[in-house]
Amino acid sequence: MELKLHEIEEGQSRVEAEVPAQSVGIQAQDVELEGPIRVALSLDRRGDEIWIRGTLHAIALQQCSRCLVDFSQILELEFEVFCAKLPSARTMSPKGLDEEDGGVHFHDGHVLSIDSEIRESVLLGLPMRPLCRESCAGLCPRCGEDRNLGACRCVGVAAG
Ligand SMILES: [Zn+2]
Ligand SMILES: [Zn+2]
Repeated sequence: MELKLHEIEEGQSRVEAEVPAQSVGIQAQDVELEGPIRVALSLDRRGDEIWIRGTLHAIALQQCSRCLVDFSQILELEFEVFCAKLPSARTMSPKGLDEEDGGVHFHDGHVLSIDSEIRESVLLGLPMRPLCRESCAGLCPRCGEDRNLGACRCVGVAAG
């Protein structure tokens, strides 16, 4: 997602957009999203310095880590990024080019891309162990039946 500097007003403004997952570099093997990512940005501009607070809304197709059922997980994510104009080549060390360095995102005075912020927020916002619901009973470790559908035949059978 690119913001054109000349379109960003001085002071506070808001931008909303829908961006396809692929356009910010999210691949199907990372996570499959249902529809685009809805992005809402609060911008606060002071000259070349822009403070961005973003809210992301996406639906991820996930597999439950307990019962292996496929389900849609709603992701509501937030990120913040401080943007400043890239220092002139003369004063800049190679390290200054690293966008991650010091948490400052540099722009060239014309266009500001926040693709990496959106991608990282989504990928880091995915749960390590997705659950179709908090109370998911999971699969029986003995017979493999889905215990959400009722007790399996192992219940009542003494172990061993
Ligand atoms: Zn489950
Ligand atoms: Zn069982």
